[in-house]
Amino acid sequence: MRIVVASGNKAKLREIAQIFKGYEIVSMQEAGFTQDIDETGETFEENALIKARAVSEALHCAALADDSGLCVGALGGAPGVHSARFCGRHGDDAANNRLLLEKLKNVPEKERTAYFESCVALVLENGESITASGRTYGRILEKEEGGGGFGYDPLFFSDDLGKSFGVAAPEEKNAVSHRGRALASLAQKLQERGL
Ligand code: IMP
Repeated sequence: MRIVVASGNKAKLREIAQIFKGYEIVSMQEAGFTQDIDETGETFEENALIKARAVSEALHCAALADDSGLCVGALGGAPGVHSARFCGRHGDDAANNRLLLEKLKNVPEKERTAYFESCVALVLENGESITASGRTYGRILEKEEGGGGFGYDPLFFSDDLGKSFGVAAPEEKNAVSHRGRALASLAQKLQERGL
């Protein structure tokens, strides 16, 4: 099956291609979709479905999208679906990280628990959808550790790895990441349905 991925992020495309080995994985740009998609959903699943459906309907093909974010216990699950624009501007990682540290000032280590969540959605050519999600648990550090990864990675101490995502090698992170887990779960569902 040919699957168009509703993302232009090369790292995401590589990760998806590694997990979906028997499928032809194509980026939406390669497939000819260049419009911006408004992420107006209130959950990761709603946003992933909005993106996958927009591409699937425009190109009449199977399309896959993911939506993800960081949920911090002491902040009632924030920034959640607003992770990319926590500070008020879209995609300013440095400002998002500064704001997160500011909001958690004086919060003790044991109350700094957090998880990343990812939801992936596949919309088939006939409009049917299949979704899966994955989480990875840890806590928010008091200062950044490492410069690897992206987004909140330098502030996220992974329980699985025993170190921050900012110092982890990409393969180490992918093996335990929310997105890796969501994609593996989706691949399993497709296999069970013989797709
Ligand atoms: P998106 O789903 O790729 O658009 O990600 C939404 C936002 O969540 C990103 O801009 C980051 O702020 C945050 N985020 C999602 N996944 C990760 C991750 O693996 N590491 C660090 N930040 C992440």
